[in-house]
Amino acid sequence: MAKATKTIRQSLGYQPAHAAWFAATKDLFNQVAAFYFEVIAAHEKVLDCSNKEALTLLETLTHATQKNPTPVMPLEAIGEDIPAMFRRAAIHAALGSARSFYSLLRKWKKRQEQAQAKGKKFTERPPVPPRSWNKSATLYAGQWKERTRSSIVLKVWTGTCWSWIKVRITGRELPEDVEMGSPSLIWRGNQWWLHTPLEKQFASPGTIEKHVTTNTQTKMCAVDLNLHEHLAVCTIQTVEGTILATTFIGGGRRISGFRKKQLGRIAHNRRKTGTIAEGEQDNADLWRKINNVDESISHLVSARIVQFAKQHGATILVFEHLGHLKPEKGKYSRRGNSKRAFWMKGRIFKYAKYKAYSEGLLTSRVNPRNTSRECARCHSLVARYKQGQSAEGYTSGAPLVLCPQCGMKGNADRNASLVIGQRLVKRYQNPLQGKPPTPPLVEGAEKSAGVAVCQDAKSEEEPSLPEARHADRNEHGTGAPQDSTSQEEI
Ligand SMILES: [Zn+2]
Repeated sequence: MAKATKTIRQSLGYQPAHAAWFAATKDLFNQVAAFYFEVIAAHEKVLDCSNKEALTLLETLTHATQKNPTPVMPLEAIGEDIPAMFRRAAIHAALGSARSFYSLLRKWKKRQEQAQAKGKKFTERPPVPPRSWNKSATLYAGQWKERTRSSIVLKVWTGTCWSWIKVRITGRELPEDVEMGSPSLIWRGNQWWLHTPLEKQFASPGTIEKHVTTNTQTKMCAVDLNLHEHLAVCTIQTVEGTILATTFIGGGRRISGFRKKQLGRIAHNRRKTGTIAEGEQDNADLWRKINNVDESISHLVSARIVQFAKQHGATILVFEHLGHLKPEKGKYSRRGNSKRAFWMKGRIFKYAKYKAYSEGLLTSRVNPRNTSRECARCHSLVARYKQGQSAEGYTSGAPLVLCPQCGMKGNADRNASLVIGQRLVKRYQNPLQGKPPTPPLVEGAEKSAGVAVCQDAKSEEEPSLPEARHADRNEHGTGAPQDSTSQEEI
Protein backbone atom coordinates (compact mmCIF):
# COMPACT_ATOMS: atom_id res chain seq x y z
CA MET A 1 0.00 0.00 0.00
CA ALA A 2 1.07 3.56 -0.61
CA LYS A 3 -0.15 6.67 1.07
CA ALA A 4 -0.44 10.32 0.20
CA THR A 5 -1.06 13.15 2.61
CA LYS A 6 -2.40 16.60 2.12
CA THR A 7 -3.82 19.33 4.29
CA ILE A 8 -7.26 20.81 3.98
CA ARG A 9 -7.48 24.43 5.09
CA GLN A 10 -10.82 25.67 6.33
CA SER A 11 -11.54 29.07 7.76
CA LEU A 12 -13.36 29.32 11.07
CA GLY A 13 -16.36 31.51 11.78
CA TYR A 14 -16.49 32.56 15.42
CA GLN A 15 -17.54 35.33 17.76
CA PRO A 16 -14.93 38.08 18.08
CA ALA A 17 -14.39 37.23 21.75
CA HIS A 18 -13.40 33.68 20.84
CA ALA A 19 -10.37 34.88 18.89
CA ALA A 20 -8.71 35.69 22.22
CA TRP A 21 -9.50 32.17 23.45
CA PHE A 22 -7.87 30.59 20.41
CA ALA A 23 -4.81 32.75 21.07
CA ALA A 24 -4.81 31.71 24.75
CA THR A 25 -5.04 28.07 23.72
CA LYS A 26 -2.09 28.46 21.40
CA ASP A 27 -0.05 30.22 24.10
CA LEU A 28 -0.76 27.51 26.61
CA PHE A 29 0.14 24.86 24.06
CA ASN A 30 3.50 26.52 23.51
CA GLN A 31 4.12 26.88 27.24
CA VAL A 32 3.48 23.18 27.73
CA ALA A 33 5.65 22.26 24.74
CA ALA A 34 8.49 24.48 26.01
CA PHE A 35 8.14 22.89 29.45
CA TYR A 36 8.50 19.40 27.98
CA PHE A 37 11.48 20.49 25.92
CA GLU A 38 13.15 21.36 29.23
CA VAL A 39 12.15 18.03 30.73
CA ILE A 40 13.68 16.24 27.73
CA ALA A 41 16.84 18.36 28.00
CA ALA A 42 17.16 17.24 31.62
CA HIS A 43 16.57 13.60 30.63
CA GLU A 44 18.20 13.28 27.23
CA LYS A 45 17.97 9.49 27.28
CA VAL A 46 14.27 9.86 26.53
CA LEU A 47 15.27 10.54 22.94
CA ASP A 48 16.65 7.03 22.57
CA CYS A 49 13.11 5.66 22.92
CA SER A 50 10.30 5.49 20.42
CA ASN A 51 7.75 8.30 20.60
CA LYS A 52 5.31 6.00 22.38
CA GLU A 53 7.80 4.98 25.08
CA ALA A 54 9.05 8.55 25.41
CA LEU A 55 5.50 9.72 25.99
CA THR A 56 5.05 7.28 28.90
CA LEU A 57 8.41 8.24 30.40
CA LEU A 58 7.72 11.96 30.13
CA GLU A 59 4.29 11.55 31.70
CA THR A 60 5.81 9.63 34.61
CA LEU A 61 8.28 12.45 35.10
CA THR A 62 5.65 15.16 35.09
CA HIS A 63 2.13 13.93 35.71
CA ALA A 64 0.86 13.12 39.21
CA THR A 65 -1.33 10.03 39.56
CA GLN A 66 -2.30 7.86 42.52
CA LYS A 67 0.57 5.51 41.80
CA ASN A 68 2.93 8.39 41.04
CA PRO A 69 1.96 11.12 43.51
CA THR A 70 5.18 13.17 43.35
CA PRO A 71 6.58 13.42 39.83
CA VAL A 72 10.08 14.88 39.43
CA MET A 73 9.09 17.87 37.35
CA PRO A 74 5.37 18.45 37.84
CA LEU A 75 3.44 19.94 34.93
CA GLU A 76 1.17 21.58 37.49
CA ALA A 77 3.80 24.29 37.71
CA ILE A 78 2.54 25.46 34.29
CA GLY A 79 -1.14 24.98 34.86
CA GLU A 80 -3.65 22.76 36.55
CA ASP A 81 -6.27 20.67 34.80
CA ILE A 82 -4.47 20.50 31.48
CA PRO A 83 -6.43 17.87 29.55
CA ALA A 84 -4.51 14.67 28.87
CA MET A 85 -4.91 14.93 25.11
CA PHE A 86 -3.75 18.55 25.07
CA ARG A 87 -0.70 17.51 27.10
CA ARG A 88 0.08 14.64 24.74
CA ALA A 89 -0.14 16.81 21.64
CA ALA A 90 2.28 19.27 23.26
CA ILE A 91 4.62 16.42 24.27
CA HIS A 92 4.76 15.25 20.67
CA ALA A 93 5.49 18.77 19.49
CA ALA A 94 8.30 19.05 22.05
CA LEU A 95 9.67 15.63 21.09
CA GLY A 96 9.77 16.65 17.44
CA SER A 97 11.70 19.84 18.22
CA ALA A 98 14.03 18.06 20.62
CA ARG A 99 14.83 15.25 18.19
CA SER A 100 15.69 17.76 15.52
CA PHE A 101 17.75 19.97 17.87
CA TYR A 102 19.77 17.11 19.38
CA SER A 103 20.44 15.56 16.02
CA LEU A 104 21.83 18.89 14.79
CA LEU A 105 23.88 19.17 17.96
CA ARG A 106 25.30 15.66 17.49
CA LYS A 107 26.32 16.46 13.94
CA TRP A 108 27.90 19.72 15.06
CA LYS A 109 29.91 17.93 17.79
CA LYS A 110 31.08 15.41 15.25
CA ARG A 111 32.30 18.12 12.89
CA GLN A 112 34.03 19.80 15.83
CA GLU A 113 35.81 16.58 16.77
CA GLN A 114 36.83 15.95 13.19
CA ALA A 115 38.26 19.45 12.92
CA GLN A 116 40.13 19.09 16.19
CA ALA A 117 41.52 15.71 15.18
CA LYS A 118 42.97 17.31 12.08
CA GLY A 119 44.26 20.24 14.10
CA LYS A 120 42.02 22.68 12.22
CA LYS A 121 40.39 25.70 13.72
CA PHE A 122 36.64 25.20 14.25
CA THR A 123 34.62 28.40 14.30
CA GLU A 124 31.15 27.13 13.45
CA ARG A 125 28.59 28.07 16.07
CA PRO A 126 26.64 25.31 17.80
CA PRO A 127 22.90 25.01 17.14
CA VAL A 128 20.74 26.68 19.76
CA PRO A 129 17.57 25.28 21.33
CA PRO A 130 14.38 27.16 20.42
CA ARG A 131 14.33 30.51 22.20
CA SER A 132 10.66 31.15 21.67
CA TRP A 133 7.87 28.79 20.82
CA ASN A 134 5.36 29.56 18.13
CA LYS A 135 3.77 26.23 17.31
CA SER A 136 0.17 25.85 16.32
CA ALA A 137 -1.98 23.93 18.76
CA THR A 138 -2.81 20.46 17.49
CA LEU A 139 -6.14 19.19 18.70
CA TYR A 140 -6.10 15.48 19.42
CA ALA A 141 -9.32 13.52 19.73
CA GLY A 142 -10.90 14.68 22.97
CA GLN A 143 -10.18 18.32 22.20
CA TRP A 144 -12.86 18.46 19.51
CA LYS A 145 -16.17 16.76 18.73
CA GLU A 146 -19.29 16.84 16.55
CA ARG A 147 -17.45 17.71 13.38
CA THR A 148 -19.80 18.20 10.43
CA ARG A 149 -19.38 19.81 7.02
CA SER A 150 -20.19 23.21 8.42
CA SER A 151 -19.28 23.20 12.09
CA ILE A 152 -17.12 21.74 14.82
CA VAL A 153 -17.09 21.91 18.62
CA LEU A 154 -13.67 22.73 20.08
CA LYS A 155 -12.35 22.59 23.63
CA VAL A 156 -10.36 25.77 24.15
CA TRP A 157 -8.53 27.48 26.99
CA THR A 158 -10.14 30.83 27.73
CA GLY A 159 -7.28 31.99 29.91
CA THR A 160 -9.09 30.93 33.07
CA CYS A 161 -10.88 27.68 32.25
CA TRP A 162 -11.50 25.07 29.56
CA SER A 163 -14.62 25.64 27.53
CA TRP A 164 -16.41 23.91 24.66
CA ILE A 165 -17.38 26.27 21.85
CA LYS A 166 -19.09 25.65 18.55
CA VAL A 167 -17.56 27.30 15.50
CA ARG A 168 -18.57 27.41 11.85
CA ILE A 169 -16.30 25.91 9.18
CA THR A 170 -16.10 27.20 5.63
CA GLY A 171 -13.87 26.15 2.79
CA ARG A 172 -13.17 22.90 1.07
CA GLU A 173 -15.10 19.87 2.14
CA LEU A 174 -13.28 16.80 3.34
CA PRO A 175 -13.15 14.11 0.66
CA GLU A 176 -14.74 10.75 1.42
CA ASP A 177 -12.00 8.20 0.89
CA VAL A 178 -9.43 9.62 3.30
CA GLU A 179 -8.31 9.19 6.84
CA MET A 180 -8.46 12.38 8.82
CA GLY A 181 -5.61 13.41 11.11
CA SER A 182 -5.74 15.74 14.10
CA PRO A 183 -6.69 19.30 13.15
CA SER A 184 -4.58 22.30 14.14
CA LEU A 185 -5.60 25.82 15.00
CA ILE A 186 -3.70 28.19 12.73
CA TRP A 187 -3.48 31.95 12.88
CA ARG A 188 -3.02 33.28 9.38
CA GLY A 189 -3.95 36.50 7.61
CA ASN A 190 -5.76 38.01 10.58
CA GLN A 191 -8.01 35.10 11.31
CA TRP A 192 -8.10 31.58 12.71
CA TRP A 193 -8.12 28.56 10.46
CA LEU A 194 -8.48 24.87 10.97
CA HIS A 195 -5.89 22.79 9.10
CA THR A 196 -6.63 19.09 8.86
CA PRO A 197 -4.09 16.61 7.51
CA LEU A 198 -5.63 13.92 5.36
CA GLU A 199 -4.13 10.59 4.58
CA LYS A 200 -5.19 8.52 1.65
CA GLN A 201 -4.24 4.89 1.28
CA PHE A 202 -4.16 3.25 -2.11
CA ALA A 203 -2.69 0.23 -3.81
CA SER A 204 0.97 0.86 -4.48
CA PRO A 205 1.40 1.95 -8.08
CA GLY A 206 4.55 -0.17 -8.51
CA THR A 207 7.56 0.95 -10.44
CA ILE A 208 7.80 2.71 -13.77
CA GLU A 209 10.13 0.02 -15.03
CA LYS A 210 7.53 -2.66 -14.38
CA HIS A 211 4.77 -0.66 -16.08
CA VAL A 212 6.90 -0.03 -19.13
CA THR A 213 8.56 -3.40 -19.52
CA THR A 214 5.73 -5.79 -18.71
CA ASN A 215 2.85 -4.29 -20.64
CA THR A 216 3.08 -2.79 -24.11
CA GLN A 217 -0.37 -1.27 -23.66
CA THR A 218 0.65 0.82 -20.66
CA LYS A 219 -0.44 4.37 -21.36
CA MET A 220 1.83 7.31 -20.71
CA CYS A 221 0.93 10.96 -20.63
CA ALA A 222 3.95 12.92 -21.89
CA VAL A 223 4.04 16.63 -21.18
CA ASP A 224 5.95 19.35 -22.97
CA LEU A 225 6.01 22.50 -20.84
CA ASN A 226 6.52 25.78 -22.65
CA LEU A 227 7.12 29.42 -22.09
CA HIS A 228 4.80 30.63 -24.84
CA GLU A 229 1.05 30.32 -25.40
CA HIS A 230 0.72 26.59 -24.86
CA LEU A 231 1.90 26.22 -21.30
CA ALA A 232 1.59 22.47 -21.57
CA VAL A 233 1.10 20.12 -24.49
CA CYS A 234 0.17 16.61 -23.40
CA THR A 235 0.00 13.46 -25.47
CA ILE A 236 -1.21 10.02 -24.51
CA GLN A 237 0.64 7.13 -26.09
CA THR A 238 1.09 3.48 -25.33
CA VAL A 239 4.48 1.94 -24.67
CA GLU A 240 4.41 0.30 -28.11
CA GLY A 241 3.83 3.69 -29.72
CA THR A 242 0.16 4.18 -30.53
CA ILE A 243 -0.88 7.77 -30.06
CA LEU A 244 -4.29 8.15 -28.49
CA ALA A 245 -4.92 11.76 -27.61
CA THR A 246 -3.42 15.24 -27.46
CA THR A 247 -4.36 18.33 -25.54
CA PHE A 248 -3.04 21.86 -25.69
CA ILE A 249 -3.31 23.78 -22.45
CA GLY A 250 -3.28 27.47 -23.33
CA GLY A 251 -3.23 30.72 -21.45
CA GLY A 252 0.49 31.41 -21.66
CA ARG A 253 0.18 34.70 -23.48
CA ARG A 254 -2.30 36.08 -20.98
CA ILE A 255 -0.21 35.25 -17.94
CA SER A 256 2.93 36.49 -19.64
CA GLY A 257 1.27 39.80 -20.54
CA PHE A 258 -0.06 40.21 -17.03
CA ARG A 259 3.28 39.47 -15.44
CA LYS A 260 5.19 41.75 -17.77
CA LYS A 261 2.85 44.61 -16.98
CA GLN A 262 3.31 44.19 -13.22
CA LEU A 263 7.08 43.89 -13.59
CA GLY A 264 7.05 47.04 -15.68
CA ARG A 265 5.26 48.82 -12.85
CA ILE A 266 7.83 47.59 -10.37
CA ALA A 267 10.65 48.85 -12.59
CA HIS A 268 8.85 52.17 -12.89
CA ASN A 269 8.52 52.48 -9.10
CA ARG A 270 12.14 51.66 -8.65
CA ARG A 271 13.21 54.29 -11.13
CA LYS A 272 11.04 56.82 -9.34
CA THR A 273 12.47 56.15 -5.90
CA GLY A 274 15.96 55.55 -7.23
CA THR A 275 16.38 52.50 -5.04
CA ILE A 276 15.47 48.89 -5.12
CA ALA A 277 12.29 49.38 -3.21
CA GLU A 278 11.47 45.76 -2.72
CA GLY A 279 10.39 46.23 0.86
CA GLU A 280 8.10 49.11 0.10
CA GLN A 281 4.42 48.55 0.21
CA ASP A 282 3.60 49.35 -3.42
CA ASN A 283 6.08 46.83 -4.75
CA ALA A 284 5.29 44.27 -2.09
CA ASP A 285 1.72 44.33 -3.34
CA LEU A 286 2.80 43.95 -6.93
CA TRP A 287 5.09 41.07 -6.10
CA ARG A 288 2.30 39.37 -4.20
CA LYS A 289 0.00 39.83 -7.16
CA ILE A 290 2.50 38.22 -9.55
CA ASN A 291 3.15 35.39 -7.16
CA ASN A 292 -0.51 34.66 -6.60
CA VAL A 293 -1.20 34.47 -10.30
CA ASP A 294 1.85 32.25 -10.98
CA GLU A 295 0.79 29.99 -8.14
CA SER A 296 -2.80 29.64 -9.22
CA ILE A 297 -1.88 29.04 -12.87
CA SER A 298 0.58 26.35 -11.77
CA HIS A 299 -2.18 24.65 -9.81
CA LEU A 300 -4.68 24.91 -12.66
CA VAL A 301 -2.29 23.60 -15.31
CA SER A 302 -0.99 20.75 -13.14
CA ALA A 303 -4.52 19.75 -12.16
CA ARG A 304 -5.55 19.74 -15.82
CA ILE A 305 -2.56 17.59 -16.81
CA VAL A 306 -3.39 14.98 -14.19
CA GLN A 307 -7.06 15.06 -15.11
CA PHE A 308 -6.24 14.53 -18.78
CA ALA A 309 -3.90 11.64 -17.94
CA LYS A 310 -6.53 9.98 -15.74
CA GLN A 311 -9.29 10.49 -18.24
CA HIS A 312 -7.31 8.49 -20.79
CA GLY A 313 -6.21 5.80 -18.39
CA ALA A 314 -2.53 6.79 -18.33
CA THR A 315 -0.55 5.42 -15.39
CA ILE A 316 2.66 7.39 -15.92
CA LEU A 317 3.33 11.09 -16.37
CA VAL A 318 6.51 11.95 -18.26
CA PHE A 319 8.19 15.35 -18.22
CA GLU A 320 11.61 16.43 -19.38
CA HIS A 321 14.18 17.81 -16.95
CA LEU A 322 14.03 21.56 -16.86
CA GLY A 323 17.57 22.27 -17.94
CA HIS A 324 19.00 25.70 -17.38
CA LEU A 325 17.40 29.05 -17.59
CA LYS A 326 18.62 30.84 -20.66
CA PRO A 327 18.90 34.47 -19.61
CA GLU A 328 17.04 36.87 -21.85
CA LYS A 329 18.30 40.22 -22.90
CA GLY A 330 16.30 43.41 -22.78
CA LYS A 331 14.28 45.36 -20.30
CA TYR A 332 13.85 44.42 -16.66
CA SER A 333 10.25 43.38 -17.26
CA ARG A 334 11.28 41.09 -20.09
CA ARG A 335 14.13 39.44 -18.20
CA GLY A 336 12.07 39.06 -15.05
CA ASN A 337 9.17 37.68 -17.00
CA SER A 338 11.12 34.90 -18.68
CA LYS A 339 12.73 33.96 -15.38
CA ARG A 340 9.35 33.65 -13.72
CA ALA A 341 7.92 31.70 -16.62
CA PHE A 342 10.82 29.28 -16.21
CA TRP A 343 10.21 28.95 -12.49
CA MET A 344 6.55 28.33 -13.19
CA LYS A 345 7.48 25.28 -15.26
CA GLY A 346 9.19 23.92 -12.16
CA ARG A 347 6.12 24.55 -10.07
CA ILE A 348 3.82 22.91 -12.60
CA PHE A 349 6.02 19.81 -12.54
CA LYS A 350 6.13 19.72 -8.75
CA TYR A 351 2.38 20.10 -8.33
CA ALA A 352 1.58 17.67 -11.13
CA LYS A 353 3.84 15.03 -9.58
CA TYR A 354 2.21 15.49 -6.22
CA LYS A 355 -1.34 15.48 -7.59
CA ALA A 356 -0.59 12.50 -9.80
CA TYR A 357 0.77 10.51 -6.90
CA SER A 358 -2.34 10.92 -4.84
CA GLU A 359 -4.27 9.56 -7.83
CA GLY A 360 -1.97 6.56 -8.02
CA LEU A 361 0.00 7.79 -11.07
CA LEU A 362 3.78 7.70 -11.30
CA THR A 363 5.87 10.57 -12.60
CA SER A 364 9.21 10.53 -14.36
CA ARG A 365 11.55 12.94 -16.08
CA VAL A 366 13.71 12.35 -19.11
CA ASN A 367 16.74 13.99 -20.66
CA PRO A 368 15.63 17.18 -22.40
CA ARG A 369 18.34 17.11 -25.05
CA ASN A 370 16.92 17.85 -28.48
CA THR A 371 13.37 16.77 -27.62
CA SER A 372 12.16 19.59 -29.87
CA ARG A 373 14.58 18.79 -32.67
CA GLU A 374 13.90 15.12 -33.07
CA CYS A 375 11.17 13.66 -35.29
CA ALA A 376 8.82 11.57 -33.20
CA ARG A 377 8.34 9.20 -36.14
CA CYS A 378 11.79 8.56 -37.58
CA HIS A 379 14.05 10.35 -35.10
CA SER A 380 15.80 12.48 -37.72
CA LEU A 381 16.25 16.17 -37.22
CA VAL A 382 13.24 18.29 -38.00
CA ALA A 383 12.89 21.73 -39.49
CA ARG A 384 11.02 24.15 -37.25
CA TYR A 385 9.32 27.15 -38.74
CA LYS A 386 6.49 29.64 -38.60
CA GLN A 387 3.38 29.62 -40.70
CA GLY A 388 4.17 31.34 -43.98
CA GLN A 389 7.89 30.64 -43.70
CA SER A 390 9.58 27.98 -45.74
CA ALA A 391 9.96 24.72 -43.85
CA GLU A 392 13.70 24.88 -43.34
CA GLY A 393 16.21 25.46 -40.60
CA TYR A 394 15.35 25.70 -36.97
CA THR A 395 13.53 28.69 -35.53
CA SER A 396 13.42 28.21 -31.80
CA GLY A 397 9.90 28.55 -30.43
CA ALA A 398 8.23 28.40 -33.86
CA PRO A 399 4.98 26.45 -33.92
CA LEU A 400 5.46 24.03 -36.84
CA VAL A 401 7.74 21.14 -37.67
CA LEU A 402 8.51 19.23 -40.82
CA CYS A 403 10.69 16.15 -41.00
CA PRO A 404 12.61 16.18 -44.28
CA GLN A 405 13.35 12.44 -43.88
CA CYS A 406 9.89 10.97 -43.45
CA GLY A 407 7.62 13.88 -44.27
CA MET A 408 6.05 14.13 -40.81
CA LYS A 409 4.45 17.53 -40.45
CA GLY A 410 2.71 19.01 -37.47
CA ASN A 411 2.74 21.01 -34.30
CA ALA A 412 6.22 21.40 -32.84
CA ASP A 413 5.22 21.12 -29.19
CA ARG A 414 3.14 18.06 -29.84
CA ASN A 415 6.07 16.45 -31.60
CA ALA A 416 8.30 17.29 -28.62
CA SER A 417 5.77 15.82 -26.21
CA LEU A 418 5.73 12.54 -28.16
CA VAL A 419 9.53 12.41 -28.14
CA ILE A 420 9.51 12.92 -24.37
CA GLY A 421 7.21 9.93 -23.92
CA GLN A 422 9.36 7.77 -26.21
CA ARG A 423 12.48 8.64 -24.24
CA LEU A 424 11.05 7.01 -21.15
CA VAL A 425 10.40 3.78 -23.02
CA LYS A 426 13.86 3.91 -24.53
CA ARG A 427 15.39 4.09 -21.07
CA TYR A 428 14.12 0.63 -20.22
CA GLN A 429 14.87 -1.05 -23.49
CA ASN A 430 17.86 -3.26 -23.75
CA PRO A 431 20.53 -0.94 -25.11
CA LEU A 432 22.03 -3.85 -27.05
CA GLN A 433 18.89 -4.17 -29.13
CA GLY A 434 19.75 -0.96 -30.88
CA LYS A 435 18.60 2.41 -29.77
CA PRO A 436 17.04 4.74 -32.28
CA PRO A 437 19.90 6.72 -33.77
CA THR A 438 20.49 9.97 -31.98
CA PRO A 439 20.23 12.78 -34.44
CA PRO A 440 23.60 14.29 -35.31
CA LEU A 441 24.29 17.70 -33.91
CA VAL A 442 23.62 20.57 -36.24
CA GLU A 443 25.35 23.89 -36.38
CA GLY A 444 23.96 26.25 -33.84
CA ALA A 445 22.22 23.54 -31.88
CA GLU A 446 21.98 24.03 -28.14
CA LYS A 447 25.03 25.61 -26.66
CA SER A 448 26.05 22.57 -24.68
CA ALA A 449 27.90 21.12 -27.65
CA GLY A 450 30.73 18.69 -27.19
CA VAL A 451 28.81 16.00 -25.42
CA ALA A 452 25.87 16.01 -27.74
CA VAL A 453 26.89 13.38 -30.25
CA CYS A 454 26.59 9.97 -28.70
CA GLN A 455 28.37 6.94 -29.93
CA ASP A 456 25.22 5.56 -31.46
CA ALA A 457 24.79 8.60 -33.68
CA LYS A 458 26.59 6.65 -36.38
CA SER A 459 24.41 3.62 -36.07
CA GLU A 460 21.95 3.15 -38.89
CA GLU A 461 20.15 0.27 -37.31
CA GLU A 462 16.42 -0.03 -37.21
CA PRO A 463 14.89 2.09 -34.53
CA SER A 464 13.68 -0.19 -31.79
CA LEU A 465 10.63 1.93 -31.25
CA PRO A 466 7.77 1.27 -33.56
CA GLU A 467 7.20 4.31 -35.68
CA ALA A 468 4.87 6.78 -34.18
CA ARG A 469 1.73 6.49 -36.24
CA HIS A 470 0.79 10.10 -36.40
CA ALA A 471 2.63 11.60 -39.23
CA ASP A 472 1.22 12.27 -42.65
CA ARG A 473 -2.43 12.51 -41.87
CA ASN A 474 -1.79 14.89 -39.04
CA GLU A 475 -0.69 18.02 -40.76
CA HIS A 476 -1.11 21.07 -38.73
CA GLY A 477 -4.44 22.67 -39.30
CA THR A 478 -5.48 20.38 -42.11
CA GLY A 479 -7.84 17.47 -41.95
CA ALA A 480 -8.81 15.66 -38.83
CA PRO A 481 -5.96 14.38 -36.73
CA GLN A 482 -5.99 10.68 -36.13
CA ASP A 483 -6.02 10.97 -32.38
CA SER A 484 -8.36 13.16 -30.43
CA THR A 485 -6.86 16.59 -30.08
CA SER A 486 -8.21 19.30 -27.88
CA GLN A 487 -7.40 22.91 -27.20
CA GLU A 488 -8.20 24.45 -23.90
CA GLU A 489 -7.81 27.66 -22.03
CA ILE A 490 -7.20 27.76 -18.37
ZN1 LIG B 1 10.75 11.90 -39.49
